[in-house]
Amino acid sequence: MNITQTLGYPRIGKNREMKRALEAYWQGALDRDTLLATFAEVTREGWRAQLAAGIDLIGVGMETLYDHVLDWSVRFDLIPPRFRDLSGLDRYFAMARGVPGIPALDMTKWFDTNYHYLAPEIDASITPQANFGDFLALIREAQAMLGAHVAPIVLGPVTLLRLARLSVDFGEMLSALLPLYRQLLDELKALGVTEVQLHEPALVFGDAAALRPHVEKAYAELSKVGVPLNLVTYFDDLGENYPWIAALPVDVISLDFTRGDNLALIQAHGWPQEKTLGAGVVDARSVWRVRPAETLALLETLRGYAPQMRIGPSSSLQFVPYTAAREKALPAALRGVLAFAEEKLAEVRLLATGETGGMDAPWAEFHAFAPADPAVRSRIESLQPSDFTRALPYAERRPLQVQLPPFPTTTIGSFPQTPEVRRLRARFNKGEISQAEYEAGIDAFIGYTIGVQDGLGLDMLVHGESERTDMVEYFAQKMTGFAFTQHGWVQSFGSRYVRPPIIYADVSRPQPMTVREFRVAQSYTQKPVKGMLTGPVTILNWSYPRADVPRHIIAYQIALALRDEIADLEAAGARAIQVDEPALREGLPLKPDRWDAYLTWAVDAFRLTVGHAAPQTQIHTHMCYSEFQDILPAIDRLDADVISIENARSGDEMLRALAEYGYPREVGPGVYDIHSPVVPTVAFIAGKLASFVQHLKPEQIWVNPDCGLKTRAWDEVIPALRNMMEAVQQVRSKESETRFLHPASLRGNHV
Ligand code: GLN
Ligand code: ZN
Repeated sequence: MNITQTLGYPRIGKNREMKRALEAYWQGALDRDTLLATFAEVTREGWRAQLAAGIDLIGVGMETLYDHVLDWSVRFDLIPPRFRDLSGLDRYFAMARGVPGIPALDMTKWFDTNYHYLAPEIDASITPQANFGDFLALIREAQAMLGAHVAPIVLGPVTLLRLARLSVDFGEMLSALLPLYRQLLDELKALGVTEVQLHEPALVFGDAAALRPHVEKAYAELSKVGVPLNLVTYFDDLGENYPWIAALPVDVISLDFTRGDNLALIQAHGWPQEKTLGAGVVDARSVWRVRPAETLALLETLRGYAPQMRIGPSSSLQFVPYTAAREKALPAALRGVLAFAEEKLAEVRLLATGETGGMDAPWAEFHAFAPADPAVRSRIESLQPSDFTRALPYAERRPLQVQLPPFPTTTIGSFPQTPEVRRLRARFNKGEISQAEYEAGIDAFIGYTIGVQDGLGLDMLVHGESERTDMVEYFAQKMTGFAFTQHGWVQSFGSRYVRPPIIYADVSRPQPMTVREFRVAQSYTQKPVKGMLTGPVTILNWSYPRADVPRHIIAYQIALALRDEIADLEAAGARAIQVDEPALREGLPLKPDRWDAYLTWAVDAFRLTVGHAAPQTQIHTHMCYSEFQDILPAIDRLDADVISIENARSGDEMLRALAEYGYPREVGPGVYDIHSPVVPTVAFIAGKLASFVQHLKPEQIWVNPDCGLKTRAWDEVIPALRNMMEAVQQVRSKESETRFLHPASLRGNHV
């Protein structure tokens, strides 16, 4: 019988209590005490579940009002100057969300998950100080309920600094933090905790070797306290750093055995016999039950190396919903193989006790329920290189495509999702209105959206996506192979939760998904309307994929479904089609040496989607996040005719990089940040365009906002686009003068 442990648990409330409470609090409709009482209740519910499941060492400390990394910024008093006039919860939420005039901390993705954390911001004005009251109170409260089962979770110093926006020396700041960490460990020791989990996922990054002196120094210091330490890493293996990390002076090292290959490292280098291995063998980021044959064999092998072992989930369980048992609307055969947080706790326990006898049965039932689709499989097997390549190269197909004025203007796809749009969809979903009434309502929104764009004089229009709640869910609902939960929410950030679809079988497209709305939109205007699709990599990355088919094959299946959609859109008259891939960049593996493998299939999936588009069809793509510098060859290999990218919040690094690379096709760098309610001025946008012209050839440049407009209101969108059009008119006349006077500059790159 092994000991069991957890590394964190869902914390949003089974019925999204935290979302409701936070949003009411922000609106002034709920007081502080009620918010904190809700938090306490949600927290206790998570502890109760883990205790009831028989978990021996329950990780406590990831529970949070907004974000666990922000919590540690506050606990070490890492408060940037702009927040220092505020205090308490006001300051906490200002750091999370900003207030007028005070921008929030930077929010970014937590490793390769779809959770977003707030990056600590540390400049020379910061002197860390201990502010551990809330944390120690939480631990004491946990001890009152869980006794010796409490294992406090502390974000490790190396990861805290590695994730920070740091404008001071790493080593110096570490030296300033370490005495505070020691103080915290002392206080935890005084509380009599069995051990402390120090979460250091940054040790799986490709550049962890550079951190070695810092890590060794930190753990030499922290081990002096004398409270047992559990060094926890997850999301990948330790790679070349395994030998020295395994030698750190800690009592337990917890590793993820569901991603990367920590097993191979142990086999190659052995396991330090004096240490306990925390074996993360239950995948905390998939929704699937354990496949007992594989997991039991893994445990058997691990036991051979590490006589002292405990069993647990691979990371915090916050990446899966609370319980699959509640999803009564799903077919029983599918529900039987789903494991969310509660089911995973039970699995951990079964694996620890060895009572794994019944674990096979649901899988047998599932395979009978969701057999392979022979048509889909044979289509994948017969793919040829020509399926991944457009018939003509860009230079030859471009003259056949739509001709628009210089600096063509467009938007990224969505237009305001007003309360009326949402009400219409809700009424339809409840069965209050008929399909025909619903479609008529949508068509009215499309008509209005087209009218606005036409009126403003945009060159390439969109239908506005009013029929879509979510760019992935919309397509997933129209394809086979996807299942949807009713309660399966997971935190994306703060009070924003998502309900990712589950890909449980082969994917295909029974019928057209977007053609009706495209036709309606195009019927209202002479201007070209872009068909609007979500790309295969984004659909995959924002779903829970099945585990028994390689990811690239799932992506190809989705790509083939989308390819058929493109053919239908072309037949309906689409001259341009956009395939959004905002999640392509964020799917990059944590270790750069795996980037190539990922980018190869991810780009191939995109190329497969658009490979059979007619040369006359202009293929657009869109990506959020502007850190493309390091993947430009992959962006280039997409072979999209036009790419629009989020840009307004970064300087002109991205433009510079595109110019340096010699990016050969058309680009629409965003001219204003759609995340802000501020309407950009003509001068602001003209300034952006002037910098585009400095870096790119004029004939390469498209003009568009940063991203979709669905979160904005019409009275923000219309003036913003009007200013965008005005700025474009200025540049157009300026450029035509230049061309007339200096025709030689026409082709030149103006750098
Ligand atoms: N076409 C989508 C929209 O405009 C793109 C969204 C995104 O990039 N995340 O909403
Ligand atoms: Zn975007």
